[in-house]
Amino acid sequence: MAQNNLTTKLAQTVLSSAGMQGRLVSAMMQALAEIWGSFDGWYDDDGVEQAAQLAVDAEQRVLEQVKTLAESTMQALMLQTGQALKAEAPQPFEYPRGVDPLEVWKRPAEQYRYAVSVGETEQDALLAALDRVEHIANTDAQLTRRDAQVRQLRRSDKVIGYRRIIHPELSKSGVCGLCIVAADRVYKVDDLMPIHDGCNCDVAPITKANDPGMSLNQDDLKKLYSAAGDSTAAKDLKNIRVASYEHGELGPVLIRAGDKYLTEDEAKTRKRARKPKVAVVDTSSLRYLRQKEDRTKHDLNRLIGNARTQHEAYQRRIQELRDSGMSAHDPKVLGMIFARRRMEQELKKYSKELEKVA
Ligand SMILES: [Zn+2]
Repeated sequence: MAQNNLTTKLAQTVLSSAGMQGRLVSAMMQALAEIWGSFDGWYDDDGVEQAAQLAVDAEQRVLEQVKTLAESTMQALMLQTGQALKAEAPQPFEYPRGVDPLEVWKRPAEQYRYAVSVGETEQDALLAALDRVEHIANTDAQLTRRDAQVRQLRRSDKVIGYRRIIHPELSKSGVCGLCIVAADRVYKVDDLMPIHDGCNCDVAPITKANDPGMSLNQDDLKKLYSAAGDSTAAKDLKNIRVASYEHGELGPVLIRAGDKYLTEDEAKTRKRARKPKVAVVDTSSLRYLRQKEDRTKHDLNRLIGNARTQHEAYQRRIQELRDSGMSAHDPKVLGMIFARRRMEQELKKYSKELEKVA
């Protein structure tokens, strides 16, 4: 097969796999947006644990498919470049961070409580939690994919290394400079490729005869550099030096050389560690009213008033997000829609109860 044909074929394999990965991740985001958007037990440890468990299960169902897809993609790439694969027993799915996923999935609730504690509205607190949800899920999917791909590479004696394949078509804000600069790096099969927040990079095997990742990247790099032209973006790219460091939970992480070793997750953890400044009294008393038995007319009117106000606030915030260009399928928008629905349900429930009391 001519080199060009091979590259085209490999590019098709990589692109269609990336497309399927995208669909899997967006299905996962929908499930997670529903769990966290309809959630209201942010201050109840048992409630948080239950929601976290739902998130763990929903995520794992998809991550198992992400793993299978990554394995079959890598097997296809290796067969296309003429690799004989050693037989291997199927590997069971393992959560890609070396920690308990249940603890990781309690973080959106920590994020929510932190936001409220510094005086943010319920809507902005939920958005902060949903942002965290999106971030955890994206990172887990990327880690699962990378781990499964690299493990497959080890099934051939001919693979001497691998490199990252950048995916300009997958990132909304453009491929990050770190990945572009690292596109010429070669990794050993025993090493894991460093990723970073929002990384969409794939992996391509290198053999003595073949380095398909290089040709796959070349087109994209040419386009990226010519689009950057003489701009500061291009100069910035030329000045970037990358390094990687070993993150306790994520494994190797790509960073700008000389930068502080802090990922978004770590930064958020530090921020959260600070003492909350404001106690939100009103919310806690509403919390009390929601659990109270034999609610009075006055109680119910307060709950109804709150549901109405919050419903409007969610509605406004959803509109703002849509006006800023966010898609209706964005997990933040979806989560906010579920929260708005929860307010509609509260409104109905308390209005009915009020009829009985009155
Ligand atoms: Zn990347």
